[in-house]
Amino acid sequence: MRLSEIGEFGLIDNLKNLCKIKKRDLITGIGDDAAVVKSQSKNYLLTSDMLLEGVHFDLSFTTFYQLGYKTLSVNISDIFAMGGKPKYFLLNLGIPQTCNLQDIKEIYRGLNEIAKKFGIAIVGGDTCASKKGLVLSGTLIGETGHAIMRKGAVPGDSIFVTGPLGDSAMGLELLKKPGTTKSDIGTSLIKRHLMPEPAPLKRTAGVTSMIDISDGLLIDLSHICDQSKVGAVIYKETVPLSKELINAAKKLRKDPLEYALKGGEDYLLLFTSPDKIRKDAVRIGDVINRGRYLVDSEGRIERFKAEGYEHFKNK
Ligand code: ADP
Ligand code: MG
Repeated sequence: MRLSEIGEFGLIDNLKNLCKIKKRDLITGIGDDAAVVKSQSKNYLLTSDMLLEGVHFDLSFTTFYQLGYKTLSVNISDIFAMGGKPKYFLLNLGIPQTCNLQDIKEIYRGLNEIAKKFGIAIVGGDTCASKKGLVLSGTLIGETGHAIMRKGAVPGDSIFVTGPLGDSAMGLELLKKPGTTKSDIGTSLIKRHLMPEPAPLKRTAGVTSMIDISDGLLIDLSHICDQSKVGAVIYKETVPLSKELINAAKKLRKDPLEYALKGGEDYLLLFTSPDKIRKDAVRIGDVINRGRYLVDSEGRIERFKAEGYEHFKNK
């Protein structure tokens, strides 16, 4: 079977079946933002994410400093998605001949910047020469008293996001378009793409499910729906959009909502809760029994699919 037929998520389903060891302490293995392992007082959270040159970044518009920063921030995002606190980080590097010591020092300057912010210790890793392209693969260990899974959403819950969506995808588009990168409009969007700033949800009491938005709202919400065995309705006009995204989309004659629904790498949190209003997040929809729908301001309803970024499928 070709990987392009099953896609990244079909492959992960296969891997789940190939890694079926049961351990008493293992609360969750493959399938959530991080694995959860019970320890005496708290749960350990374990997550891994990698960045590959040519797939996740292009050295012609990313600095080594930004890469170091992003490598850790995307891992932190997964720990926050479980309601946890990040603690220990290991970084594996595949270094091509074109990189020198100064470049690697810059990676660690970026890493240390965000590590300091969240009190994370960089405790190890592995280093190899790479025949083609720079590889950064990070593993982050965190902890939490109570892990919030992708499963757990129940009909009647509201759906919340912790910030404006689509900025990162637009930032990437601007980066790829020569000429627009220096414009004022682009700067904050580009920064959101190159140096995402994950933030924890401080009040997690009552939160029934959570995921970070890494592949796009519709895909990540679909993961919650799949694992919680529920449906969802999103009210389009409530999806938060930044002014910068709206302006940039206007210039490009594009619909900003498309970036918010399908653009990836925002690294914000998507969660469900019986709350109707929260100060720290925007309510964008409701959990329902079944079906996945988008509703516009005039009440027109359409079904949505899990569209966004998926490895192997997107060419
Ligand atoms: P995220 O986007 O939150 O990082 P992924 O979609 O990358 O999540 O991964 C989903 C789940 O699949 C996680 O539990 C992850 O640990 C697991 N997973 C991904 N790749 C592999 C792999 N090669 N081997 C085992 N588990 C994997
Ligand atoms: Mg995640």
